[in-house]
Amino acid sequence: MPQWQHITYSNQITTEHYGKQITVGGWVQDLRNLGGISFLQLRDREGVIQITSLKKKNKELFELVASLPRESVVLVTGMVKESKEARAGFEILPDRIDVLNRAEAPLPLGVVDKVGADLDTRLNNRFMDLRKEEVRAVFQVEAKAVEGIRQFLLGNGFVEVHTPKIVAAGAEGGSTLFPIKYFDRNAYLAQSPQLYKQNLMATGFDRIFEVAHAYRAEASDTIRHIAEFISLDVELAFIESSEDIMAVAEGIAVAGIEHVRAHAQKELEILGAKLESPSAPFPRVKYKDAVEIVKGQGMRIEHGEDLGTEGEKALGEYMKREKQCELYFITEFPTSLKRGTFYAKRFDDDPETTGYFDLDYRGQEIVSGGQREHRYAVLTEQMRENNLNLESFDFYLKGFRFGMPPHGGFGFGVERYVQKMLGLSNIREAVLYPRDRARLVP
Ligand code: ATP
Repeated sequence: MPQWQHITYSNQITTEHYGKQITVGGWVQDLRNLGGISFLQLRDREGVIQITSLKKKNKELFELVASLPRESVVLVTGMVKESKEARAGFEILPDRIDVLNRAEAPLPLGVVDKVGADLDTRLNNRFMDLRKEEVRAVFQVEAKAVEGIRQFLLGNGFVEVHTPKIVAAGAEGGSTLFPIKYFDRNAYLAQSPQLYKQNLMATGFDRIFEVAHAYRAEASDTIRHIAEFISLDVELAFIESSEDIMAVAEGIAVAGIEHVRAHAQKELEILGAKLESPSAPFPRVKYKDAVEIVKGQGMRIEHGEDLGTEGEKALGEYMKREKQCELYFITEFPTSLKRGTFYAKRFDDDPETTGYFDLDYRGQEIVSGGQREHRYAVLTEQMRENNLNLESFDFYLKGFRFGMPPHGGFGFGVERYVQKMLGLSNIREAVLYPRDRARLVP
């Protein structure tokens, strides 16, 4: 790492530094004062360093250390000395301490307290919460997962795009749209890049992806829905069936996990998360078989009904127990369930069924997608069935009238993926500053 900040990180200190002077910077995590000697635990982004001060060596400096409130920010310049007692194997004997920012007391949230605070208190003081290494580790894992997925997609000829988040019409149904004022007109926050990513299929960009926020006014308060989530959207053209799309979804689910396993080992350890290499191809369970499996688990469900949270969970338990598998597709969703998804392609020889699929991870949907209807006449018929006003979809529909190849894609929920990967009980733990019905700040 280049030395931009002129400080040495705790994990960069080696035996080479012993006997030499360096400068470290961080937060005062803890202070033990034994009268003539004090031990300050200084936390930086990589770990904790012990700063040992002796009163007889420098009284003024000793008193300055003793006066430091916890979580203050300091720079410490001093000599690195081997130490059998310090956890890292060395300590720093300070020659100079610059107090860059003195913290107030009491702290709004403890950083090293053994007793955990509830999620609301943590989220209300997120900057403080993020000082805990196990909380930061979640976002380091998330960054590595997205990095692995990006590498996979870029390596396979996909182009990263950015579509508008201020839109004139929604694609996923009106009830979850956030209306906004757009100069003197009404507009909405995008629920998904659906219309734009399909429109791009008419341009020659035949493999695209986007990683961006999607907005949904989800009325219910659940552990898997938030109002602003990161949607990793993929679309590709010249496909033969939904199988071609499932292969990409499978590829990115594997790539994210493998990249985390390879590059976030320390974070996985901090979180105590076990992450095994998934074996591909993932099993494909037809919707109609999934219903039977869920029924066999004692749930009351009829064909044509949504599996719902409980059904997905029951299927996840079955797949783990019977197939030793945590990632699997549910395929061939009935048209009746996807009717609202007006752009879903139905099977030509069985219009009651679509090629639409979900990818579930440990009993929860993380991806949904399939082959789209690219034939203008059929698409507009399906839109009329949904009572949609075709005029408000003019730009979208025009794309289908002048040369649109067969295509399909999916939306991949990044936070849900990380939630399941790390076994987090609530999706909000995988969001830096979550948005939901109750939360708009911070
Ligand atoms: P669900 O049935 O779980 O509400 P959905 O069918 O509305 O999800 P899609 O519109 O198919 O979801 O979106 C694709 C993916 O985006 C989902 O599989 C999920 O991973 C993610 N996603 C959708 N809505 C949310 C949300 N409110 N919060 C977090 N992730 C979401």
